[in-house]
Amino acid sequence: MARHASDATPPGSTPSEVTPRARKEVSRSDRLGSVIRSGITAAFFLHLGFLFLFLGLEVWLLAAVNVLSVGVYGFCQKSMADVKWLQTVLVITGVEVILHAGIASRVLGWESGFHYYVLALTPLVFLDARASSRIKISVMVILITLYIGISLWTRTVVPLHPLAPEILHGLHYFNMILALVILAMILNVHSHSIQRAEHHLQTLAETDNLTGLPNRRGLLNLADRFHPETAQRLTASAAILIDVDHFKRINDRYGHGYGDSVLKAVARSMQGQIRDRDALARWGGEEFLVLLHDADLELALSVAERIREAVAQLTFQAGDRTLSVTITTGIADWQQDEPLEACIERADDALYHGKTSGRNRSVIS
Ligand code: GH3
Ligand code: MG
Ligand code: MG
Repeated sequence: MARHASDATPPGSTPSEVTPRARKEVSRSDRLGSVIRSGITAAFFLHLGFLFLFLGLEVWLLAAVNVLSVGVYGFCQKSMADVKWLQTVLVITGVEVILHAGIASRVLGWESGFHYYVLALTPLVFLDARASSRIKISVMVILITLYIGISLWTRTVVPLHPLAPEILHGLHYFNMILALVILAMILNVHSHSIQRAEHHLQTLAETDNLTGLPNRRGLLNLADRFHPETAQRLTASAAILIDVDHFKRINDRYGHGYGDSVLKAVARSMQGQIRDRDALARWGGEEFLVLLHDADLELALSVAERIREAVAQLTFQAGDRTLSVTITTGIADWQQDEPLEACIERADDALYHGKTSGRNRSVIS
């Protein structure tokens, strides 16, 4: 009769364990957090630089604006340099940039080039993946309207504090270049996060969720480096196909969840028995496949036996009963002129032979 999985917990199964997926999420937000921190720090020092520039030029209003900006970014740096503040930081940055661009353009004239920052920061709207398309489009429309508003407000009037032409041109090109650099950096962060997401998806697609081992697709992608021709070796590589014996009985008696924990423990134990350059994958269900580098049949047999003995030594607690499981393995060498499928087929034949002749053994093709 099936029993509940919680009655029967094999060693090593810890439900509260931090999963690799959770670890990836944390490190992803760590990276985004550090990008935000760097951005805030850069903005802080940029405004500090402008503060000294405008003090030197005796443009008191803009010096005062920059004192406020330095204060704002200093505050963000201390209290909001975390990914959970992303939205707030984006809003504060947006408001600061628009006010700053508007006031600076009015005081020094449109030609001072402070308006470029509004354009450069527009892509920030799209950085927060949680924001809906409606919000993003609305913010874009507001930004464009404000940009045109600043232009209409400042282009037709004499600046409050006209600068000497050479200083004005210098400031114009400085702002233009810096705005382009900021734009490039934002796009760079974005393209990196896309790359990381693609890599993460590929890893997920090639990884078995239960055991964390490569799945069939993952192993086939790795297989090339085991091909005797690719490896330029005269000796063949070898494959070991492994199947847990009478596994259905474990599911039937102790529940599917218990069966899952057994599979995890078996996978971990097998992983401990192979070299780093060899590969172990979950081939499907309760079947696993090992590919061995530069291994003849004799070496492959000894590895298969080592794995078999290690698995046989595992013990699982099911209430007051102690269980163990056995495996049967089929071994084949991968010959120069054959595709991997042919090699695995021969390993499968050997495995079948092992099953029909009593299980818990290793059989060479
Ligand atoms: P044999 O010794 O002949 O291999 O017997 P067996 O019972 O192991 O083989 P069979 O093919 O009859 O049953 C395999 C079982 O493995 C049936 C299936 O429910 C179970 N299984 C496959 N994938 C999983 C899984 O991810 N989790 C669990 N718990 N069971 C699985
Ligand atoms: Mg099977
Ligand atoms: Mg089986």
